[in-house]
Amino acid sequence: MIIVLKPNQKQETIKEFIQRLTSQYEVQVNTWVGTHSTVLGLIGDTTGIDSEYVAAQDFVESVKRVQEPYKKANRKFHPDDTVITLPGGQTIGGSSLALIAGPCSVESEEQICQVAQRVKASGATFLRGGAFKPRTSPYAFQGMKAEGLELLREAKKLTGLPIVTEIMSMEHIGLFEDVDIIQVGARNMQNFELLKQLGKLRRPILLKRGLANTIEELLMSAEYIMAEGNEQVILCERGIRTYETMTRNTLDISAVPVIKRLSHLPVVVDPSHASGVNWLIEPLAVAAAAVGADGLIIEVHNDPSHALCDGAQSITPDQFDSLAKKVRKVSQTVCEL
Ligand code: PEP
Ligand code: MN
Repeated sequence: MIIVLKPNQKQETIKEFIQRLTSQYEVQVNTWVGTHSTVLGLIGDTTGIDSEYVAAQDFVESVKRVQEPYKKANRKFHPDDTVITLPGGQTIGGSSLALIAGPCSVESEEQICQVAQRVKASGATFLRGGAFKPRTSPYAFQGMKAEGLELLREAKKLTGLPIVTEIMSMEHIGLFEDVDIIQVGARNMQNFELLKQLGKLRRPILLKRGLANTIEELLMSAEYIMAEGNEQVILCERGIRTYETMTRNTLDISAVPVIKRLSHLPVVVDPSHASGVNWLIEPLAVAAAAVGADGLIIEVHNDPSHALCDGAQSITPDQFDSLAKKVRKVSQTVCEL
């Protein structure tokens, strides 16, 4: 249930009203204070609450029941866009386009440091790199694990770029202390125990859409994290499985404006896993910027033909440089429209 209050209400009145609701009903009240109004979002069992009685209070503007199963992720609960700000000041969400770039997997100190320096010079704002890799085959390279995380820390020290890397199990959380944004991969989008545990942290989580999941399921997974108190969730569209075989997955470009309409959370697009082909990364990145994505996560490798993982979809630092220039122009133009 959403209760919009009339402007300029006394703090006391609001506090007392919330107190009344929480003592009489099994509900939790989320308060969103905007410049022109205050919105109370009620989560829990609201069936016993008489909307007409609430609407009759002289400080209440309107009352609406929320049909969608996601509440904290719902734009109705939080009309403004969420902007996630890291301790170093970097942001995801809002008017600037975040560029997360780096190799699929960390392979060596030389590789990650070289790529980090190059993408930073081209304007990347975050460094990506997998240390724990979810691979279809148990015989494929599984990532450098703890050593990979150590190399990411070194690249961060060298460049100042915050790091984004995937967690596959809560068993490894101790190793993730210096990780700025923890990624939940497509294959773990509905690993609800993992999501609940990550919800107890107070660190941004980049949640990727599952290979065969709907937008509503993605929002429900975000809700799992938020329900535990961690509201810093970034959603990622990375392509879904369709009958098309020309590309690795099919980029659901409409997911970006759809999610942004339904939710206040930032949305980033991963054209690398969506397409699986290096020449498609730039046009898809441009398209993502054009539809209003808050950021891009792109695989960049210094030597794609020898990459241990996802070489075919990796672009070179030079190609990233050209892409970064184009997407920034598109994003600025979209902002000015
Ligand atoms: C990745 O980002 O390296 C990755 C494995 O992506 P996804 O979970 O989207 O397949
Ligand atoms: Mn990859």
